[in-house]
Amino acid sequence: MAGIEAAPDQPQERRGLCYPHGAFVPEGGGLAEVLPGIFWLRMPLPFSLDHINLWVLDAGDHWAIVDTGVATADIKAHWRAAFDGPLKGKPVGRIIVTHYHPDHIGLAGWLARKWGLTIEATRSEYMLARVLTLDVRDAPPPEVVDFYAAHGWPDAALDRLRSSRWGNFARGVHPLPAGYRRLRGGDRLTIGTRTWEVVIGSGHSPEHACLYCPQEKLLMSGDQILPRITSNISVYPTEPDADPLADWLGSIEQLRRLDPDTRVFPAHNEPFIGLHTRLDQLAADHHCKLDALQAACTTPLSAWDSFSVLFRRAVSDGEIQMATGEALAHLHWLHRRGRLTRQASEGQTRFLAIG
Ligand SMILES: [Zn+2]
Repeated sequence: MAGIEAAPDQPQERRGLCYPHGAFVPEGGGLAEVLPGIFWLRMPLPFSLDHINLWVLDAGDHWAIVDTGVATADIKAHWRAAFDGPLKGKPVGRIIVTHYHPDHIGLAGWLARKWGLTIEATRSEYMLARVLTLDVRDAPPPEVVDFYAAHGWPDAALDRLRSSRWGNFARGVHPLPAGYRRLRGGDRLTIGTRTWEVVIGSGHSPEHACLYCPQEKLLMSGDQILPRITSNISVYPTEPDADPLADWLGSIEQLRRLDPDTRVFPAHNEPFIGLHTRLDQLAADHHCKLDALQAACTTPLSAWDSFSVLFRRAVSDGEIQMATGEALAHLHWLHRRGRLTRQASEGQTRFLAIG
């Protein structure tokens, strides 16, 4: 890695959003300066989503890191190259994690140990990550299998689940420090010349921290706001009656208080301007799915049955858990608002439109 390149100014408009750096992305493991003191570090991901954006902030005598990448040898090598290359000369002094997903918190423990630091996160995100890293078993708990069986999984999919190990999360996350520093909504973090306010979102994860700099209208949005893909909103067996879409739509309303011209630095895709346009699009996309689901539920549908309505394409074996979670998030939202009834018989849960 040679050094830090400057992200070019080649604004490009797509779907009502302005991308100030056009189609530019730093190469895998590469660092680009997007604004003075804000560096975009693009790391590969071993998932269907092929990258994550991490942010390195110049804090004067140290670096502050926002999100860390999934725990793989490849990404550790990219970090080492960055520390020996463009980040050489001052230490990492802060590690801030937006939420508990492995691509965000995966190497936080490793970086904390390497630099003799603790990590900063909201309480729910830290606690959830700690629990999940410790929950490793030879097979899934029976209530997890029962949950997916009730929502329509066929026998072949259930057999695959029963014969799988439980604890995938721990494989992508380096052990976390036993303690952490808590971030709360409204906290103000001074990092170098900027002050960032912690803004909490919910629905994708329970207490997702975004960082907002009101003076310059900048937002580190993590997975709470992405420009071209929609964040996963899921019901999990941990909380089988959850209504995460209500949290998500509520967060969209909360985020409207931020300036419409905010420049957003998301964890996936590219930095963009057009926060309120994107919030409108996200809300509209979910309402469109909700209406389509309600219209399809003139005969009782399970979550599994609803895949064809929601996704309009074949869902692969590797995606069915996430697809079930997404389907239930939409079905539960409609059920809680009296637009669907929920019927349980012979171990199967189905949803039927009212009226
Ligand atoms: Zn996430």
